[in-house]
Amino acid sequence: MVKVSVNKAKCIGSGDCVETAPKVFAFDDKGKSEVIDPKGSDDRVIVSAARSCPVKAITVVDEATGQQLFPPPKQ
Ligand code: SF4
Repeated sequence: MVKVSVNKAKCIGSGDCVETAPKVFAFDDKGKSEVIDPKGSDDRVIVSAARSCPVKAITVVDEATGQQLFPPPKQ
């Protein structure tokens, strides 16, 4: 399982994440994405949604290990 969050200050409302994982992300009343159900899709799909974000506003962390899955942690 993953922890997923959207940095609304960064989000430009492109809608890519909502399109990729509509059960996980939805627009709020200001047109910014927010997490509506972190378990709404496979982890794989959630990471893919994070990757699709043009401004890297989505962070995904593996709940079990605490490892950041996206964006990739700096080496
Ligand atoms: S893909 Fe990124 S910029 Fe686009 S709506 Fe989702 S969080 Fe916002």
